Amino acid sequence: MRALTLTEIGGLDRLRVGEVPPPAIRGPDDVLVRIRCAALNRLDLWMTGGLPNATPTFPHVVGSDGAGVVEAVGHSGGPWRPGDRVLINPGLSCGRCPACEEGEDPLCSRYGILGEHLPGTAAELVVLPAANLGQVPEGMSWPEAAGFTLVTLTAWRMLTRRARLQPGETVLIWGVGGGIGMAALQIAVLLGARPIVTSGSDAKLETATRLGASVAVNHTSADVVAAVRRETAGRGAHVVVDCVGEATWTDSLRALRRGGRLVVCGATTGPSVSLDLRRLFWHQWSILGSTMGSRKEFAEIVRLAGERKLWPVIDSVVPLAQGAAAYQRMQRGEQTGKLVIEVSP
Ligand SMILES: [Zn+2]
Repeated sequence: MRALTLTEIGGLDRLRVGEVPPPAIRGPDDVLVRIRCAALNRLDLWMTGGLPNATPTFPHVVGSDGAGVVEAVGHSGGPWRPGDRVLINPGLSCGRCPACEEGEDPLCSRYGILGEHLPGTAAELVVLPAANLGQVPEGMSWPEAAGFTLVTLTAWRMLTRRARLQPGETVLIWGVGGGIGMAALQIAVLLGARPIVTSGSDAKLETATRLGASVAVNHTSADVVAAVRRETAGRGAHVVVDCVGEATWTDSLRALRRGGRLVVCGATTGPSVSLDLRRLFWHQWSILGSTMGSRKEFAEIVRLAGERKLWPVIDSVVPLAQGAAAYQRMQRGEQTGKLVIEVSP
């Protein structure tokens, strides 16, 4: 089968479209999916340079997000039948350990992500457990279905289970143009919170305003902390969503009110930050890490998409042969929403 693969760790020039052996159904719960579209995440970009907990076999099929048509099912393959239109939850958990039973699947000791720890979705065929599939909501296109899960699931867990964002609270979302930012914005609006968003691009801020951002700040030309203070009577945001890392860390804390929650799911500009513990305890801040989401949370976001309350923003779609171009666009930070790779037309 054709797939977009990484031939070795090293960078975007190690991406190749080529033939790899197709996967096969091995267990009773396995489902074979013919992929229509895959979608990129920041994780895919990191993966090309190597990640500490991922030791892939090369050539490694890339891609975490995807959607397609069920081709075959193991003898107990859940509710799925050949021909079903499905989107994929790329986080695989055992479903039986104490962490999984408590709805903390991302803390499962066997947790793995397609495209990182396992072969990915940028291939004509993928095999995965029945529990990792959801029905594509009515009216959702293949690119949208492919681009929906990872960022929406991650942002959903960040703002609900982790930061417990409440109606009326103010939330600062850095870098709204990316997939996480667009998903976090929609979720904040859905929860009745007041989103203040930032971007370096006025066009991206316009899209965010159309999606319900209360305040849009261009972080290249304006002082984000001052804007947050102005909008919150000097007190700061209840919640800050930061996936940027080193470049925004200091301002994230400065923008946070006393008793506020800072939730982190990425470190695009670098992983090492410093913290004055006296400020942490005096202001009674909560600093929360978050990643991916549980099977239950996956079911919740798919249901909300079915009600048209959450919907992915698609930047662009490229054919499999030009998959590397989508990576380059992400590396340059040009995208608004999701970059999609069409695997099978
Ligand atoms: Zn588990």
